Amino acid sequence: KGPSSSHEFQAETRKLLDIVARSLYSEKEVFIRELVSNGSDALEKLRYMQMTDAEISDPDLPLEIDIEVDASKKTFTIQDTGIGMTKEEMIEHLGTIAKSGSKAFLSELSKASEASAKSSIIGQFGVGFYSSFMVSDKVEVFSKSYKPGSVGHKWTSDGQGKFEISEAENVQRGTKIVLHLKMDSHEFCQEDVIKDVTKKYSNFVGAPIYVGGKKANTIQPLWMLDPKDVTEDMHEEFYRFISKSYDRPKYTLQYKADAPLNIRALFYVPDAPMAWEMSRELDAGVMLYSRKVMIMNQAKGVMPKWLRFLRGVVDSEDIPLNLSRELLQDSALIRKLRTVLTNRLVRYFLEQAKKDPEKYKEFYKDYGMYFIEGILNTQDQQEREDIARLLRFESSTKHPGETTSLSEYAERMEAGARTIYYFHAPSRELAETSPYFEAVKEKGHEVLFCFNPYDELVLLTLQQFDKKNLRSIETEMAADQTGTDKIDSSDADSLKQEEADALISWITARMGQKIVKAKITNRLVSHPAVISVMEMGAARHLLKTSLLGRS
Ligand code: ADP
Ligand code: MG
Repeated sequence: KGPSSSHEFQAETRKLLDIVARSLYSEKEVFIRELVSNGSDALEKLRYMQMTDAEISDPDLPLEIDIEVDASKKTFTIQDTGIGMTKEEMIEHLGTIAKSGSKAFLSELSKASEASAKSSIIGQFGVGFYSSFMVSDKVEVFSKSYKPGSVGHKWTSDGQGKFEISEAENVQRGTKIVLHLKMDSHEFCQEDVIKDVTKKYSNFVGAPIYVGGKKANTIQPLWMLDPKDVTEDMHEEFYRFISKSYDRPKYTLQYKADAPLNIRALFYVPDAPMAWEMSRELDAGVMLYSRKVMIMNQAKGVMPKWLRFLRGVVDSEDIPLNLSRELLQDSALIRKLRTVLTNRLVRYFLEQAKKDPEKYKEFYKDYGMYFIEGILNTQDQQEREDIARLLRFESSTKHPGETTSLSEYAERMEAGARTIYYFHAPSRELAETSPYFEAVKEKGHEVLFCFNPYDELVLLTLQQFDKKNLRSIETEMAADQTGTDKIDSSDADSLKQEEADALISWITARMGQKIVKAKITNRLVSHPAVISVMEMGAARHLLKTSLLGRS
């Protein structure tokens, strides 16, 4: 046995230990996630070495992670059969933070230039190991490097500024970490707790994880697979697993990108929608992962709130694992991720609308309200118009029940026309027999029908689409300058000028303060009269009530 040597933590490390133990993590349990992910990294590195035919010590050990707890000794032990560490590596990797082991390995890797294994190793995690000191007053690390002929070493520290290293016997290849739990962290020597936390964060880690001898991670991370290799049944099982429901997804989108961000994502639209009103308490339906390790369960900020009806996983190795949720939520990285994902999803829904309009119509019936909410809750006109492409309305040029989009309306417009007309009415019949509609129809304009007040409110908010103005035909009527004092004398059925003047005086007298003005119009065909308002009808009431209340 060699002598024990004592080392000081690097000054930054000491500072960091303080921060990590106190504030960086929102929940203590994430130390398990960190240690599991280190074990998983170590196994990936070993696998890479195997691929390059390097000589390896203890070559017959199965590649796995084992977690054991001891309730009487108050210990938590995690062991992997990965790449392990030499004495020097322990000093360097567990004593300093300036140099991330993963980072160093990566540069080794780029020298070796074997492309295949690269992607799964990349990751620049900063402080993971030190999270063990959140729950421990003493940490022991036993490690033996994969290099043939290596000797095992033991690293010990109470996290207070110093660590000891000595040679150790009976160490197998890989790393074993023993945490001596603090008084306030004794729950982490209960197997059930560990099993739950492991499942929660590490269900999709590539290597098998055993807790007390039983496998804890059983589901494949579908989002990492080639879409070609994922069957509909696999999606169904996975969807039910993550959404804890029994329906099957209506839509499934698997999305992969390497630039500007690394993204592996999988989205499902539930077939059985949650009522929009009920869902308003929910922040997000997707989970955020970094290289198969969960960062956040309800990843607020990764998706805009209106897309909370989606279930799924977003995995990006560009996201640092060791950030608190609070910091993550408004980072520039997350914003970028959100923009990329939102654009992709809108595009996906448009593709689906084209591919199978009937199915989209069903989808819209269930989820259209979310789109409307999305438009109402952003101040960004571009974003509004992007989402607005998903909206559907009945139209005066289509049969009842058929719907059309703003883009389609725009395509049908005559060259040079600048206005998209819409009209709120409780039903198609009332819309088509309305004097407002009659006046606009006479001019040959298409009119979109809004049967629910939100439809009208959303168009009112949107104001413009594709450089065209959105205009309610009620407003159109009010702004109409064709109102006159003169009767069209060429029309034989018309009132005489004196009769009309008398009528106007009578109306003005009867209505008093209730109206601004009574005028003659030549635009109505079958209706005798129409009331026009300066602003929108139903939307006025709605503006006062709900929808815009919260974001
Ligand atoms: P990161 O994982 O981001 O590099 P950590 O603090 O989690 O940061 O770990 C620091 C370094 O310690 C790792 O990069 C790695 O070199 C080494 N290390 C930690 N755990 C293990 C392990 N189980 N096996 C081998 N090396 C490990
Ligand atoms: Mg780590």
